[in-house]
Amino acid sequence: MDRNRKIGLTICVVLLAAVALLALALARARTGVVGDAIALIGEARTGGLTLVMPDSVKGVRVREASVPGRPIVLIDPGHGGRDPGAPGVSGASREKDLTLAMSQELADLLEQRGRVRVALTREDDKYLTLEQRAAIARHLRAGLFLSIHMDSAPNPLAKGATVYSLSDVASSEEAARFAASENRDDTALSSEADDNVRALLADVALREQMEDSAALAERMLQRAAGRIELRPRPHQFAAFHVLRRAETPAVLVEAGYISNADDEAKLMTKEGRAPLVLALAQAVEADLAARATR
Ligand SMILES: [Zn+2]
Repeated sequence: MDRNRKIGLTICVVLLAAVALLALALARARTGVVGDAIALIGEARTGGLTLVMPDSVKGVRVREASVPGRPIVLIDPGHGGRDPGAPGVSGASREKDLTLAMSQELADLLEQRGRVRVALTREDDKYLTLEQRAAIARHLRAGLFLSIHMDSAPNPLAKGATVYSLSDVASSEEAARFAASENRDDTALSSEADDNVRALLADVALREQMEDSAALAERMLQRAAGRIELRPRPHQFAAFHVLRRAETPAVLVEAGYISNADDEAKLMTKEGRAPLVLALAQAVEADLAARATR
């Protein structure tokens, strides 16, 4: 009897120790791979697979909405770090600074209005490849990806805003050239095999992604019309890798021409940027609300 009790007690102690060790190992594995709670949710949604999270994703902060469970809007300030983007005609502005300022204003406004969650691909003067930007969208499972840029052209009279949406066919030669120049920066694409698998899987999803992106662009232009100057054909289509690889409805907004003195002056002040920021915020909210009820 005494011996049986001793054996029972020993088994209990061994079992408890085993459970404690297992729990410790699990906790380590989770915190070792995933940097923060937000990403943990995203990782969990991938079906329990442990993915190595790129460094560019770890620092991303998601601002919560007033109601839980809202989709994430990912705002991408174009360029940054060693890539300044286009110079302003006055010599006093750089594209990378203006895109960051405008993106932060849009994120602040969306956070204030509280209808969506919002995150930025960069919150400071940091260099990110296009693939890193797209990877952040995929890891966050962003409901919408919005890249902000400032245009530039040799013709100093060119002015106004343009919204580019994802397409497999460019809407003009200029759009094709622009996409080619933006895609050139794509130095850190994953392996070719990975790309081929993705391409196959993405084929059906891609059609839907393109349609949703075009609808989002139209919505933005409707909200912007009459409030800010638009180019004569403000909705353009082009095959941007960064938009496609975000794997969510995605547009690239050219807020205006910093090679034009009037546009640059406007885009250099918060007041000048405000009408476009408001139009984009309203369009983003309307777009996500429409897709949620579909
Ligand atoms: Zn740009």
